[in-house]
Amino acid sequence: MNILVINCGSSSLKYQLIDMDGEELLAIGLVERIGIDGSRVKHELTGEKEVIIEEPMEDHRKALKLVLDALVDPNHGAIESMDEIGAVGHRVVHGGEKFSESVIIDDEVMEAIRDCVGLAPLHNPPNIMGIEACRELMPEVPMVAVFDTAFHQTIPMANYMYPLPYELYEKYGIRKYGFHGTSHKYVALRAAEMVNRDIENLNIVTCHLGNGASVCAVQGGKSIETSMGFTPLEGLAMGTRSGDLDPAVIPFIMEKENLTFDEVSEILNKKSGVLGVSGVSSDFRDLEEAAANGNERAQLALDLFCNRVKKYIGAYAALMCHIDVLVFTAGIGENSITIREQICEGLDCIDIRLDKDLNQVRGKEAIITKDLTATQILVIPTNEELMIARDTLHLVEG
Ligand code: AMP
Repeated sequence: MNILVINCGSSSLKYQLIDMDGEELLAIGLVERIGIDGSRVKHELTGEKEVIIEEPMEDHRKALKLVLDALVDPNHGAIESMDEIGAVGHRVVHGGEKFSESVIIDDEVMEAIRDCVGLAPLHNPPNIMGIEACRELMPEVPMVAVFDTAFHQTIPMANYMYPLPYELYEKYGIRKYGFHGTSHKYVALRAAEMVNRDIENLNIVTCHLGNGASVCAVQGGKSIETSMGFTPLEGLAMGTRSGDLDPAVIPFIMEKENLTFDEVSEILNKKSGVLGVSGVSSDFRDLEEAAANGNERAQLALDLFCNRVKKYIGAYAALMCHIDVLVFTAGIGENSITIREQICEGLDCIDIRLDKDLNQVRGKEAIITKDLTATQILVIPTNEELMIARDTLHLVEG
């Protein structure tokens, strides 16, 4: 069965068409600038050159129509007709406490996803637009929602509650939800396969280090703790997000700088993290280059980032007693040799001993420990789309 995987942002739409018989990627693409001048589809049939389709797109429905046209196009299409799409899997950022796993989408599910808009006002509305457009254009095709938060619904209450008045949890659902769940789940499952062990018997720490970054403790295949929280702002320092800080800093800077809630939120989400500290870039390639050329603030941002990852790994080692497998994934985790090395440096005390020679890899699966008695350290390129397609297939096949 061919499954179309859709990931909608406010002005973008990413898609992949996957043939699930051999888990083979047939086509991949990205629609940019939906509802803005200069909108276009970048479409790529596996093994062929990218095609750019420039056309005005007033909304996600029009964007999706162009994607479907591209998929069946006689020149650069992957299939002959839309009947060859057996199901659609949608990435949905927030499933609140309602969804602990992926679900087939019906009217009731749509209502429940709408109920979560308050928890993810930037992310869930475009996800909903993408689902609505698909349901309109492909009314007969089954659709599945796969939530970023679902994998973390196994986190015990003592880990997900904030030490705030309990009524705030009851009234507004203020608690840790966690994100990047599809990625953490994918790499944890793959890690168990790579070390040839039953996931039920493994303590795994997965480090999803991309522009957004989070760490997750996976015990017996279940998420028991993660660094992102009520929103994706908590936890590690990220490209432009602050991650953890003393909450008292927020009213303090609001008062000192005379800022509104929107302005302070903009600072915390878009102007902080390694960009804010370095003043150079949010991209680790730029930071590594600047640091190598003697830029001290770029080096400080890298050190701060690595120390935070290290502290979370230590905390999760304490929570689980011992880490059997440590996984690095996402843009930085998969590609940055120096960041992986710096994070693991000095962690011998908890059996983390990276092999510098084996660590010379980028963007492909690798085991970067030699010592079999130590924690196995793995590099695993994440594949959230494949995970979404697998869940979709599993549900539509009943
Ligand atoms: P992601 O959000 O997973 O797409 O990751 C994007 C981030 O990965 C970029 O902002 C870069 O900071 C980082 N990245 C990608 N390639 C490299 C590389 N070769 N070395 C260091 N960082 C990289």
